[in-house]
Amino acid sequence: MEQLTASVWVHRIDAEGFPTVAAVAFTPKRAFVVDTLMRPQDMRPVLELLAEHAGGRRIVVVNTHHHWDHVYGNAAFPGVDIVAQHACPRLILAQGNTADEYVPLQPPEGVPLPTITFGDRLTYSDEPETVHLIHAPGHSEDSLVVFLAGARLLMAGDTLEWPLPNFAQRGGKDAWIHTLRQLKQLPVELIVPSHGPAMRRTIIDANERYISQVHEAVAAAKKGGAGRNDLDLPAAAFLGDDVVLDDVYEEVHRDNLVWAWDEV
Ligand SMILES: [Zn+2]
Repeated sequence: MEQLTASVWVHRIDAEGFPTVAAVAFTPKRAFVVDTLMRPQDMRPVLELLAEHAGGRRIVVVNTHHHWDHVYGNAAFPGVDIVAQHACPRLILAQGNTADEYVPLQPPEGVPLPTITFGDRLTYSDEPETVHLIHAPGHSEDSLVVFLAGARLLMAGDTLEWPLPNFAQRGGKDAWIHTLRQLKQLPVELIVPSHGPAMRRTIIDANERYISQVHEAVAAAKKGGAGRNDLDLPAAAFLGDDVVLDDVYEEVHRDNLVWAWDEV
């Protein structure tokens, strides 16, 4: 595992081509495990870190949202509280029955559902740290972010993503833009997205620009007669000059265009 700050560690895996993070944040009383990746065995390094460093802390698993690359390792934590937004358990169950070819089969251990849910916000006061779980819809209905107020650090799930966000909530664009504007109000210095490197706050503006400009450009193209599968809108027009996309994110961009065509 990689130690990011005095109290935060990350473990990165490759999830079907996506670099994907599980994080651990220690407070005086608790050890928060943020996301459980694709399989229980993906969480082995996290369990080892906890065995070494958690001491008497209470372990709390957080699912940032229901997608398979964030919750399918939940079975690595038997008997531990799993916290998520209120919509998450229903969406995990629905995902288990999906015919979507992008969703891998559940691991043989199954996917234990969250045991504690909340609506808008759940706060843990562990002086000198305060941990806020904040509902952040847009990428998915149940997305949440983890804000460590003392450390000024935000674990963003897929609400923020680098090099570009992945559209996944039907009708979610306006909620997502609203969420990003709320995030800009938080006194955050370091952002840890589930996919991508730890970054400064500039990722918020970059993602907002991509989401709004892709929807605008697709709407204009559709009005001009472009079909769902022949949108010629290269990603570079919506990203900073220094951003280079690999094949995986080129495909995410193409899927985003089609997704947006259905929305506008
Ligand atoms: Zn993800």
